[in-house]
Amino acid sequence: MTRNHVPIIQFVGAARTVTGSKTLLDLPHGKVLVDAGLFQGRKELRLANWDGFPIEPSELDAIVLTHAHIDHCGYLPRLVKMGFEGPVYCTPGTLALAKIVLPDSAHLQEEEAAFANRMGFSKHRPAQPLYTAAQAQASLEMLRPVEYGAPTTVHAGLEVTWRRAGHILGAAWLRADLRDAQTTVVFSGDLGRPTHPLFLPPDPIDHADVVVVESTYGDTEHLDSDPDDVIARVVNDAARCGGVVVIPAFAVDRTEVVLWHLDRLMAQGRVPQIPVIVDSPMANRALEFYRAEALRGSPEIRPEYHGRELFPALDVQQTTSSDDSKALNTRRGPMVIVSASGMATGGRVVHHLANRLGDSRNTVLLAGFQAPGTRGDQLRSGATKLKLLGQYLPVRAKVVSVELSSHADRSELLDWIRTADYPQMVYVNHGEADAADSLVEAVERELGIAAVAPCAGERLRVNGHRSARGPEGR
Ligand SMILES: [Zn+2]
Repeated sequence: MTRNHVPIIQFVGAARTVTGSKTLLDLPHGKVLVDAGLFQGRKELRLANWDGFPIEPSELDAIVLTHAHIDHCGYLPRLVKMGFEGPVYCTPGTLALAKIVLPDSAHLQEEEAAFANRMGFSKHRPAQPLYTAAQAQASLEMLRPVEYGAPTTVHAGLEVTWRRAGHILGAAWLRADLRDAQTTVVFSGDLGRPTHPLFLPPDPIDHADVVVVESTYGDTEHLDSDPDDVIARVVNDAARCGGVVVIPAFAVDRTEVVLWHLDRLMAQGRVPQIPVIVDSPMANRALEFYRAEALRGSPEIRPEYHGRELFPALDVQQTTSSDDSKALNTRRGPMVIVSASGMATGGRVVHHLANRLGDSRNTVLLAGFQAPGTRGDQLRSGATKLKLLGQYLPVRAKVVSVELSSHADRSELLDWIRTADYPQMVYVNHGEADAADSLVEAVERELGIAAVAPCAGERLRVNGHRSARGPEGR
């Protein structure tokens, strides 16, 4: 096995795009991958999941995860399939959520392959899943929980500390201390908003020589407008005309934030008590975890929710089987169906859209980021027809967008970087090219720190950034 003498950071995924987070630390004493995310969204991105990995996965000494969203951990079973043998370090919350999302992801991969085989869609015969349920299970057995704030030796030359990111339960930004290079690299993972209704804000950075920061909203300020007004209008409209509100929501966290708003509106009497159905096995399991974490008083959750039931004003109906889900097809409105996936790229929401898009009484409420080319993006852009389940269907339902992002916006990203003492370089990743370039420009102009949005596969030396005004210099 060859070892570099120069510490290298390599931007394997999420470079000038928003999914597929994978950053390799190729260090003198070992190789560690920060996040192992799937590419999602456009077909050419999804196909990139089938590309090779820049090194033999068996050469990886460890993987460290920031959080359990699939675009940060969903490639793990693929690496296991290709020979990675562990370990994988993450927070206990990420471990718990990975047990929910990875088997589900494997199930979707297997289902898609089986569906393509039945319908003759695939160019490959027979179509293969990216990975199997057994490989997802094997990757779960490699997970090692580490607490927030506890420096953990990942291998001889690298100590990593997980800090609160306020993005989803278990989410962390990582402080990676490269001992040989005497360099501290901070990885934002996905950074939450200080205003998340359930979570405490992200921890400040303190010392960093290099900051690798996401830029999902690197060119955007979230609107100040109150999402409650938009949601109330949509729900009241559905209640009046017997319509169905279909909300494609990321199963983890977005579902809870949607429920938090509906709960508040119903408690305040601003909308009538119409049924709210959560129709996603993964979202339902994540919902149980959120409820349990609030009850036990998780240090990530705002103290006002400790020891209490989340969403007390809502009668949330949770489907338990695919028959329950299918039964919704013939159920009349008014009702709200919250279902995954969040960009309508797969999952049960695809069936609900196929079933409800043709009726002008219904509304599709888009509640978050819609990657270019996804069905959610097409709907938001005013598509008059949508390809679902192998056919084009007319869009007669209303389409409304609401800002419920669990990602920091441009100002919030800059504010968080400001909490770092004297970084010498900011690498901007995890954003579409325009968003990444825009944040690069803002970091240089507003913070006076050199910044770059690296290209996919780019390898850069990560020593020599030690700040003269670092801890010893102060
Ligand atoms: Zn995320």
